Amino acid sequence: MEIVPVKAFKDNYVWTLRNETHAAVVDPGEARPVLDYLASEKLRLAAILATHHHPDHVGGIAELVQKFRVPVFGPRNEPIPALTQPVAEGDRVAIPELGVSFSVLDIPGHTRAHVAYYGAGALFCGDTLFACGCGRLFEGTAEQMFASLSKLAALPDDTKVYCGHEYTLEPENRALSAREARDRKLREAGRPTLPSTLADEKATNPFLRCREPAVVESANKYLGARVADPVRVFAAIRDWKNRF
Ligand SMILES: [Zn+2]
Repeated sequence: MEIVPVKAFKDNYVWTLRNETHAAVVDPGEARPVLDYLASEKLRLAAILATHHHPDHVGGIAELVQKFRVPVFGPRNEPIPALTQPVAEGDRVAIPELGVSFSVLDIPGHTRAHVAYYGAGALFCGDTLFACGCGRLFEGTAEQMFASLSKLAALPDDTKVYCGHEYTLEPENRALSAREARDRKLREAGRPTLPSTLADEKATNPFLRCREPAVVESANKYLGARVADPVRVFAAIRDWKNRF
């Protein structure tokens, strides 16, 4: 099985799991690029996985299921179009056509019932953990998001993280400058910088580094107050990043 990015909208990817004959898609915000890809590669769609209900993640599902009658997996407590297999923490998602299965993790914070899919060394985490960032708190609290990120960070370091992209605020971090240089080269070559790995994220993503003195310092400067509790540090940098 291979995991390929199918470009959607302007800067988004629909992660597409495929073998020689079948494919499954994660968070198809748009149907057209997925249908074009399946047609050009002569693949049959086998399943759709949704992480949360935002339109840029589920907007293409209704059109895809008109063409392919496939199971649609998604969080039990969110309005996912054409949902056939509601899932939550502890459930398993099997895609026999691809010989792969995933475990479901509840990771609320960005939305109230956001889920991640973890399996085959890959993590599909929607708008929760980004490369060098995390999703905004639309329906959850900082405490929930912090707990969700901690849950993801506990997965093995070599886990590949399939997500979106964001930027950062830890200027003295060497691993981060190295990563930025590497990502710039990939973009210049027209190649995706994703997936990253959890090891990369733990070394460079401030939202997973809320106990690091430099991150605590940045949060304190922003707040104009001294806080050390990691959840409060997390809440401060999440709030800060909402402003730019
Ligand atoms: Zn979202």
